[in-house]
Amino acid sequence: MTTLPVPAPGEESDFVARHLRGLFSGEVTRSARFRGGQVAADTALASFDVRGYAARRSEVWPPSRRGASGLSPWIRHGLITLPRAWAHVEGGPARDVERFRDELLWQEYARHVYARIGAGIGRDLRAAQALWGSASEPGHALDRRMACIDLVLGELDRDGWMVNQSRMWIASQWSVRHGLSWQRGELWMRRRLLDGSRAANALGWQWTAGTATGRPYGFSRQQVERRAPGTCSGCSLSRACPIGDWPPDGAVDRLAPSPLLARDPDHEATAGPLGPEGGGDVDAVWITAESLGDGDPALVAHPDAPAMFVFDEGYLDRFRPMATRLVFITECLADLATRRPVEVHRGDPVAVLAGRRVAATYTPVPGWSARAAAIAPVAVHPWPWLRRPGPGSVASFSAWRGVRREGRRGARRPRG
Ligand SMILES: Cc1cc2nc3c(=O)[nH]c(=O)nc-3n(C[C@H](O)[C@H](O)[C@H](O)COP(=O)(O)OP(=O)(O)OC[C@H]3O[C@@H](n4cnc5c(N)ncnc54)[C@H](O)[C@@H]3O)c2cc1C
Repeated sequence: MTTLPVPAPGEESDFVARHLRGLFSGEVTRSARFRGGQVAADTALASFDVRGYAARRSEVWPPSRRGASGLSPWIRHGLITLPRAWAHVEGGPARDVERFRDELLWQEYARHVYARIGAGIGRDLRAAQALWGSASEPGHALDRRMACIDLVLGELDRDGWMVNQSRMWIASQWSVRHGLSWQRGELWMRRRLLDGSRAANALGWQWTAGTATGRPYGFSRQQVERRAPGTCSGCSLSRACPIGDWPPDGAVDRLAPSPLLARDPDHEATAGPLGPEGGGDVDAVWITAESLGDGDPALVAHPDAPAMFVFDEGYLDRFRPMATRLVFITECLADLATRRPVEVHRGDPVAVLAGRRVAATYTPVPGWSARAAAIAPVAVHPWPWLRRPGPGSVASFSAWRGVRREGRRGARRPRG
């Protein structure tokens, strides 16, 4: 375990190259588009206008046609909470506000599912995937000679981000057309996304592969022509397009879902405390990559205590995200350090925090709970839910939301 210097703004890439070697994949670069930190998050939110979102959210190319907010890296890392994003669009055109808030609810839903079933999110939820593919490398399934694939993967490489439609194209090409395991694809993509989360990424892949609904999402040239017009005319494979037809149906076998999806016998534990628990003197606030914003409830409650962040060696050694993600997180820490004291370490959080009286925000992911059980924070603050988890079904988004809206997403042959 090593105490690291506090990263300085502008020197984050050097910090990652020098101090985090062995914990990432790829070359050390920053995202061409996204900067970490509360200042960047606030600027992005302030400049997001929801007008036109509903009509343009699924556009892929060129970027000027898009309606997607591009807020996900900051939402993922807690710099923009879901309640804040929800409030931001108040007063906008009703159709756009409703559609945007619906997407925030998908994020919340994914968090609820993961908080409830933990690692179970990595197993087929409601249908078994039909596997027949033999490609051992992503390159075989994701052929970059195809202009559409090259377009969206280029954005992933450069920015660490893609619009939702592009993610569906990649996940469908991999798991539906090539019959490869969605779990392998999920890990491959999560390593590359700045917003990569076990919760939303696994659900996105399960939804596309059909294991969440029983209806795989098909990807073909039609979507490219509609959502990224002009792409096919510049494609060397245009006359022999490998996705000219719909992919094979890939029959799925319905599974008996886990009873935990239907009911949570311990939903208060899943949701965490309703108000602050514990207290007394604290000598640091333990923060994690789930909640790096100034508004983290524990940081707000203990304004004079230093924020303490540990690059978790064991976890990162196994996960090996692209360096871009660690640069983004380091940018968040460097930015935070301009407003309050920050301590940065590399090692096992349990060992680093042993003997410290720390405060923390309850975080609804299994990794946090496992470490918090050993660290035993003296004060725990509630997670800023958009909707507090209850005991009811999370077997599908519509069941969870309480209204029947899933058909829009469940169509196998999407209109666009
Ligand atoms: C295969 C696949 C993988 C995905 N992996 C991730 C992931 O790792 N992390 C992640 O945050 N999202 C993931 N998504 C969901 C979605 O694609 C992204 O949240 C969205 O594209 C982010 O861009 P945005 O901020 O412009 O979204 P907007 O359309 O502007 O939506 C605003 C916010 O709503 C939430 N949101 C939107 N769509 C979804 C959705 N379908 N599911 C959950 N939340 C949503 C996000 O927090 C997003 O920032 C995935 C979707 C698919 C199909």
